[in-house]
Amino acid sequence: MQIDTHELSERLGLYGCIQCGKCAGGCPVSMKTTLDVRFLIYEALTGYLPDLAHMEELWDCTCCFTCVERCPKDVKPAELIIGLRSLLVENGNIPKTVTDALQGIFRQGNPLGFAREQRADWAQGLDIKAAQEGCELLYFVGCTPAYDLRLQPVAKSIAKTLQLAGVDFGTLGIEETCCGNEVRRVGEQGLFEMLVEEGKPLIESTRAKRMVTTSPHCMNTFKKEYKLDGIEVMHYTQLVADLLDKGKLTLTGKVEK
Ligand code: SF4
Ligand code: SF4
Repeated sequence: MQIDTHELSERLGLYGCIQCGKCAGGCPVSMKTTLDVRFLIYEALTGYLPDLAHMEELWDCTCCFTCVERCPKDVKPAELIIGLRSLLVENGNIPKTVTDALQGIFRQGNPLGFAREQRADWAQGLDIKAAQEGCELLYFVGCTPAYDLRLQPVAKSIAKTLQLAGVDFGTLGIEETCCGNEVRRVGEQGLFEMLVEEGKPLIESTRAKRMVTTSPHCMNTFKKEYKLDGIEVMHYTQLVADLLDKGKLTLTGKVEK
């Protein structure tokens, strides 16, 4: 695979790197794998990147962005890993498990392989309205809480809490689709852009002023990468804190912390 390392380094701003090693020094996976993000940058800058198809460690990065936080030169090392993964995806050099997850999102809107028609099954008996009818707050459930039997009680509890607090909310039901956080992190930029193109107008059509997510990853993606018009995105813990502050929820049990 031919890679224009100069173009890559310029596009990702790698030339600002001073090779201080703060990125790799804080990388939580570097102790367990051969991934060394500082050295990877060095290889890109010097034009000596090894054959990507044999760099299995590229898939070890969890995209925690600790390296980005620690870099004193604002280089964003994780973006190099995402960029290299994109090249692997373009060339079809990806693990089968990743391919399966991406295909699941493309076909059914979730990486777990479940049918789209089952996406709202978790909400049976809860009488939750469709956000498409218009609502003040949109609850974005997320793939795992919608389908995983161990996490469905979390989604149910959030919905019941909102009902208890008298919040005018709705969900997208079976039209809800994966936010694409992991899609972008594994480098499938084309699929991610498709999810944004389809998801953004759907979310904005609800005319909700606020959107709350179960997952912090969904929150991060909607907040930073969807550029939603006039919608404040928050995590459900922030909303619950707000409802407690405003007296719309009260705790009956004792809180030890
Ligand atoms: S922390 Fe920033 S400047 Fe230092 S080696 Fe990593 S990318 Fe380069
Ligand atoms: S984003 Fe990846 S490379 Fe950067 S610190 Fe996290 S795991 Fe390491």
